[in-house]
Amino acid sequence: MISSPFFLVFTDLDGTLLDHNTYGWEEAIPALELCRTRGVPVILVSSKTRAEMAALRCKLSISAPFISENGGGIFFLKETFSDPPSGSSPADIRGLSPEGTTGSSSMGEEDLWILSLGISYPLLIKAFQEIRNELGWRMKGFSDMGLEEISHLTGLDKDGVQLASMREYDEPFIIEGEEPTDLAPLKHAAEQRGLLITSGGRFYHLQGKNDKARGMGLVTEWYKEYHGEVLTVALGDSPNDFRMLERADFPVLIRSQRSFPHLKKRIPKLRITDDTGPKGWNSAVLSILNKNWENTNA
Ligand SMILES: [Mg+2]
Repeated sequence: MISSPFFLVFTDLDGTLLDHNTYGWEEAIPALELCRTRGVPVILVSSKTRAEMAALRCKLSISAPFISENGGGIFFLKETFSDPPSGSSPADIRGLSPEGTTGSSSMGEEDLWILSLGISYPLLIKAFQEIRNELGWRMKGFSDMGLEEISHLTGLDKDGVQLASMREYDEPFIIEGEEPTDLAPLKHAAEQRGLLITSGGRFYHLQGKNDKARGMGLVTEWYKEYHGEVLTVALGDSPNDFRMLERADFPVLIRSQRSFPHLKKRIPKLRITDDTGPKGWNSAVLSILNKNWENTNA
């Protein structure tokens, strides 16, 4: 009997597994179900916070590790991982369960190991303010915004905004007024401080040199210890996903309003979905898992 390959699915959220506007994932349910029945871990990798991802993970009934804030933290559920994965420690949930949010109850249930890779939020905010003063640009971060403004920019409701504001490793920001044509001064100012600027679907981000791809690499190594060879699928829609796609055995660009004409040259194995968001996610994952399943079991 030929054993089936062990697949890992690494996925971005906004604009990828979740619809860019509605944050819905219903169209991806058939592929999510297939992953569940075949025991394929779906590893959520996002610029979202731990609090947002923990709540979402519960709604999606996913028990695989998840990677928050562009690779700032990797979280493993103690119910799935009874021993701490190498380098991890128990995650402190104090201060991450604001009263009155619907996410707080699911947060309270979370018992997690954390592998921390990012720069702490207070240090990022300090650097963000310095960079803004240095460049004189109208940069506005989550730390400068009220909950209403974040809600307006993200389309999230009040509870969602609360969870999105509980940042640990990443400051999302906008540049008000005319967009600068050259981001080099901004990138240079971040680089001088050992930090990075990345670009997501809605915001720029100031963060440490953690990235989604490093988180993906560490989680992959962890699974390899137990399963030997693994095959990785990675799905994303934005530049901050591209290094993750580069590393994957099956890289998938989810179609969006933006086009990246040179990406196929950089990642020759790249598949580009016909549909956007969860619909594209669904057809790509079904196709990859079914096709390769049949091939290895033929
Ligand atoms: Mg995205």
